[in-house]
Amino acid sequence: MKVYQGKPVSPGLVLGQVSRLQRPVERFGRGPFNPEREQKMLDAAVATAQQELEMMMERAGPAEEAIFLFQSMMLEDEGFMQNVQFQIKAGIGAAEAMSKVGHRYAEQLANMKDNAYMQLRSVDILDATRRVLNILSNRPRVWQALDHPVIIATDILMPSDLFSVRSGMILGVITSEGSGQSHAAILAKSMRIPAIIQVGSEFLDDCDGRTVILDAARGECMLDPDAETRQQAVTRICDIQRENEELNALCALPCRTKDNQEFELLANCFGPEDVTTARGLGAQGVGLLRSSYMMMPGHALDEQEQYVFYSSCLAAAGGGPVTVRTFDFGADRTVADAFQGLQSSKLGLRGIRSSLLRPRQFETQICALLRAAARGPLRVMFPMVTDVEDWNAAMRLVEHSRQTLRERGVEFNENTPFGVMLSVPSACLTAEDFAACGCDFFVIGTNDLTQYTHAVDREIAMVEHYYRPASPAMKRLITMVLDAAKPRNLPVTICGLAAGNPDSAVQYLHLGVRSFSMSPQSLLETKKALREADSK
Ligand code: PEP
Ligand code: MG
Repeated sequence: MKVYQGKPVSPGLVLGQVSRLQRPVERFGRGPFNPEREQKMLDAAVATAQQELEMMMERAGPAEEAIFLFQSMMLEDEGFMQNVQFQIKAGIGAAEAMSKVGHRYAEQLANMKDNAYMQLRSVDILDATRRVLNILSNRPRVWQALDHPVIIATDILMPSDLFSVRSGMILGVITSEGSGQSHAAILAKSMRIPAIIQVGSEFLDDCDGRTVILDAARGECMLDPDAETRQQAVTRICDIQRENEELNALCALPCRTKDNQEFELLANCFGPEDVTTARGLGAQGVGLLRSSYMMMPGHALDEQEQYVFYSSCLAAAGGGPVTVRTFDFGADRTVADAFQGLQSSKLGLRGIRSSLLRPRQFETQICALLRAAARGPLRVMFPMVTDVEDWNAAMRLVEHSRQTLRERGVEFNENTPFGVMLSVPSACLTAEDFAACGCDFFVIGTNDLTQYTHAVDREIAMVEHYYRPASPAMKRLITMVLDAAKPRNLPVTICGLAAGNPDSAVQYLHLGVRSFSMSPQSLLETKKALREADSK
């Protein structure tokens, strides 16, 4: 028996046989090539690839759909395809041209170290490129005719790998490399397939056809386990199944406290992928969508691309509300050209402050949001608001955006609700002013509110004991917000890590909070605690 250590990305414990996914080594013909013929072959292959992707979209849920849609859009990207065409005109074969450009693009994105979103898009480009290459070489796109469920092992998992076999045939996934932020990792999680990454190449060379215990929660796998270890694993698998069934049963139960008070459970999400996961775990909607994660360095998404992104989040939420936070650059640090260094520090140009300094970028986002709001219950909130001056300035721009859309004759929702994310004490202390100025809802962001209230950087471990999200000071601020909301009946949601911590969630419940937004993984445990608590 040999134990390999990796990183957990999707929890679970399984025992099974490993099947190593082999990728063909690309070999390209030497030519000479007829550029016109090569271009025609490429066009036909791209069309076939797009048909295949469309078929996969039909089979997929909304989250996976967005991934394959991106891949299909990539194959239509003018810049990308012109680059391939340029290579073909220079006398290179279609397959080699496609491979070169695809790998170059993927590498550029993979090198954006501070942008997890673009890094994971890099694998999508490789996936789409590989599909076209397989079509050009007449290789099957279904990688294995599996007759029994297996644990797949590979170097990097691509999103379409998970869709290239019949559902239920993948017990688990082990990759020697890969990233926890990758789409494949997110998909594995949303499809509830246990997965670990970065176990190293030695495992990969060793594993094909052998038995493995994949303990994805611990991030380890055991190759050729002895009889005793197998027996222990089987017992634990049964225990986990029973616990999961108990927690899953909670999904269907109403969100009511012991004394029969209703509460709302929402999720904090990054994109359609985890909106789907959250919905599967009983979230009634999205209390915080961190929109900054879809942006790429040096290439801001245009209005249409943002509109597609927000619309796919609405689709994934299946009719539940989606609360989009406008860009919180500086904090999320996903855009390389966003303000850097001191300026974008925690006390600098964060959130709405940065958006107000970039009115064109802000207007693009607001227009996309107003348009998407015509397709479902979308709400918009501004982060890092200090006082009503910020609110008024932001709302002036919203009005301007509405006017622009009216003039363009584009469909949008005139009555899209706008709110503030309360994460700065000065905003909580003046919450009444926001209510008086027409703010439609409040979301309390406990992560940052704790940081600013207690003067403690949330990322510095040494001062962690000062970071107390349910301290008396925090409770007073939260109560102020609830009181300010009451006369106008404004909805108040509490979000952040503390909202998903059963202990503090119950304390917030006792203050009068009735709407909680948390990371999808915390939903069931928190629901259990709230259901077992009295509301006072
Ligand atoms: C918060 O500040 O509470 C919050 C949820 O936002 P983020 O963690 O994205 O800063
Ligand atoms: Mg925050």
